[in-house]
Amino acid sequence: MANKRMYVVSGGMIQCDLANMVCMPVMGNAREHEVKSIWADSPITCMLIENEEGLVLFDTGCHPDAMRGRWDEGNCLRTPVSVGEQEGVLAALKMLGCRPGDIRYIVLSHLHEDHAGCIEFFPQAKVLVSDRELTGAMRLYALHGDMGGYIKNDIRAWLEKEIDWEPVADEEEERELLEGIRILNFGAGHTFGMMGLLVTLKDSGNYLLVSDCINTKENYGPPLRFPGLAYDTIGYRKTAERIRRLEKKYQAKVLFGHDIGQYRQLKFVPEYYT
Ligand SMILES: [Zn+2]
Repeated sequence: MANKRMYVVSGGMIQCDLANMVCMPVMGNAREHEVKSIWADSPITCMLIENEEGLVLFDTGCHPDAMRGRWDEGNCLRTPVSVGEQEGVLAALKMLGCRPGDIRYIVLSHLHEDHAGCIEFFPQAKVLVSDRELTGAMRLYALHGDMGGYIKNDIRAWLEKEIDWEPVADEEEERELLEGIRILNFGAGHTFGMMGLLVTLKDSGNYLLVSDCINTKENYGPPLRFPGLAYDTIGYRKTAERIRRLEKKYQAKVLFGHDIGQYRQLKFVPEYYT
């Protein structure tokens, strides 16, 4: 078996209106017309997979200076993040006695602030992202549009550091990256182009890392519940159905993007799954 270990890395905690994750979590009624939003904790995770052929990182979390001038004020207000000293991918690598240069591949679920914030620290890595996602984010940047969850300073850093991108085209639905690691290209849904990972471990079995394709258990249902933020709702539904088929086919455990209950059950680096 080619994967030796999978480490879960906490990327800290975002706080946001729960409606970001699950559409309309509260609704008005005849007695209460003005319902208040629910302000909720939303954890961030990244996975580090130790394969016989090298280290693979799935998502990178937020930039360490996110709240110190890196993000625009709008992003800081919408989704303030706190990352502890022992959290984040750089601290995790240090804890394991590894360096950023040891990472061979980075697979990105998408390019939002809480997943793609640390790419610039890995200029030696091959960075796999959905072609559609890279195009969509860069296009927004070029057109000076509303960036939503994409961070201008992140994009500037990617250009400056000459990141070694490998866009995965729409036509390629799956790709075996290394033995026991399959990239799942889901297409449009939460954003322009989403990707996930199927990781096979000897003792723990198969894990489907779906990131924000499905934010929480509540979104997954059934019945499916859309998040507040989905660029393509038809794509979102199709992705969820595909994930259900994969879950069944591989008898896999689905790890959601931001599920606080699931997050509390996980073991974190330096512990690991084998
Ligand atoms: Zn996210």
